Amino acid sequence: MERSRFEQILIRRANRRAFLLGGAGAGLGVAVSLAGRPTRARGAFQSTPVASPTTATGVFTLGVASGDPTPDGVVLWTRLAPDPIAEDGLGGMDPAPVEVTWEVASDEAFGQIVRSGTTLARPELGHTVHVDLARLEPASEFFYRFMAGSEVSPVGRTKTAAAAGTALDKFRFAFASCQHYESGFYTAYADMATQDLDLVVHLGDYIYEGPDRGEEAISEGTIVRRHTGDEIMTLADYRNRYALYRTDPNLQAAHAAFPWSVTWDDHEVDNNYAAEFSQDGDPVPAFLERRAAAYQAYYEHMPLRPEALPVGPDMQLYRRLTFGNLAEISVLDLRQYRSDHPCGDDTQVRCALALDPSTTMTGPDQERWLLEGLDASTATWNVLAQQVMMGQLDLAPGTAAIYAGDLWDGYAGARNRILSHLMSRGTSNPVVITGDIHSSWVNDLKADFADPASATIATEFVGTSITSGGDPDPDPEADAASAAEAEALAAENPHIRFYEGAHRGYVLCELTPGQWRSDYRFAGAVTTPDAPVETAVSFVVEAGRPGAQPA
Ligand code: FE
Ligand code: CA
Repeated sequence: MERSRFEQILIRRANRRAFLLGGAGAGLGVAVSLAGRPTRARGAFQSTPVASPTTATGVFTLGVASGDPTPDGVVLWTRLAPDPIAEDGLGGMDPAPVEVTWEVASDEAFGQIVRSGTTLARPELGHTVHVDLARLEPASEFFYRFMAGSEVSPVGRTKTAAAAGTALDKFRFAFASCQHYESGFYTAYADMATQDLDLVVHLGDYIYEGPDRGEEAISEGTIVRRHTGDEIMTLADYRNRYALYRTDPNLQAAHAAFPWSVTWDDHEVDNNYAAEFSQDGDPVPAFLERRAAAYQAYYEHMPLRPEALPVGPDMQLYRRLTFGNLAEISVLDLRQYRSDHPCGDDTQVRCALALDPSTTMTGPDQERWLLEGLDASTATWNVLAQQVMMGQLDLAPGTAAIYAGDLWDGYAGARNRILSHLMSRGTSNPVVITGDIHSSWVNDLKADFADPASATIATEFVGTSITSGGDPDPDPEADAASAAEAEALAAENPHIRFYEGAHRGYVLCELTPGQWRSDYRFAGAVTTPDAPVETAVSFVVEAGRPGAQPA
């Protein structure tokens, strides 16, 4: 298998996204057993001192989750929702607070309970629960569960981070993005749940905002399962969309197995939005109202610390996670503060505004926070967990150059500022991890993308989607037609070391003091359940030597 260049590229229109690339993939043949699925505790719900739910079908229908581990804590999450997609967005609960008990144990049988307490699941937050634990042992595994009345939740497993600055010889995490529910099954998450991981990083497009496309779309084979309702706009709509996605047993299994650290991209609100500007040019006040609803539902359904609770349409999501002296992860938000697309969000020639110093992808505060944090970091690997591709991608064969306006290419001045800073400060082993474009890439990030001889400053791993884009195109002519174009593009984007656009999956990363390894794990298919998942290709970065090599 050729690993050092594009295989085949098709430029297509999809989802009004600037481009979608499809190509030939690796052969897949290894069968992988699926993860154990969490079983839901049964039993009649008994009324609490505060209120009781309206049905007895189980309140922990959306599973459990944990997130953002620190050396002494982690956030625990659940939601009470006996009827997850109830029209009012309250998940079948009465609009009254309900008392929830939580337990944390060092063993799966809960023989050694190390923490417990009670909290209120409040209707103002959709009866979600966020427990911010503290004073736990570092680098330790814990099990947790919730109780409401006589109901007991599935058991989750989590892990605290290694203490800052301590020696850590290994850190294993997976990153994922783009899990369009209608497009396929979450087979990749079933595989992920069987891995041995310290963390899962989600890089956005956790939900998609589009409407139910109806039974016809299923019979036509366009989709395999359905959204509910129209395009989502209100808090109830967004809550119900998260609830729908979170009913998936494979997604629940991956949440229950590891702590996650999440960030959003555009579809958590609206395709290709930029700060207060919607793609369709909605009036700003109306769009900010929608953004406030979307951000609140995001906070409610993610294992985020209570300090992330949004205020109106504003929510601070960017933050930093540290794992001993081995890894520091800056989790970025490239949607809330970015300049409106300097040259438009389509694919076009670069306009002057993309290079203007006022152009920003992160907003000035987040950019300063990021660069100061990188300057202060003592970690071997410095990870930027973010949404859109940073490596340059010239999509025009020949001397002309066109770029996708929604990616860092559309904000080239902001990209250059960050890469120049990394180079001038000698940041230790910067690695960028990326989602968004439903395809797999390995990129060397260059001091000057126009000059292949210029320094490689950082390495970028772009992971494919969990489902978005669906299965490989069965028509061989579709790929063959673009082969010549792919050759031409590969020739003028030599910093792109690998590209594959056909398969869905996720990326598994193992970090040691000397090496970063990324395994690209692809599902054979997503439109049929339980397809095999296997490692299609692996790349490594040697510490002290930026740029990726085939493993
Ligand atoms: Fe996506
Ligand atoms: Ca060109």
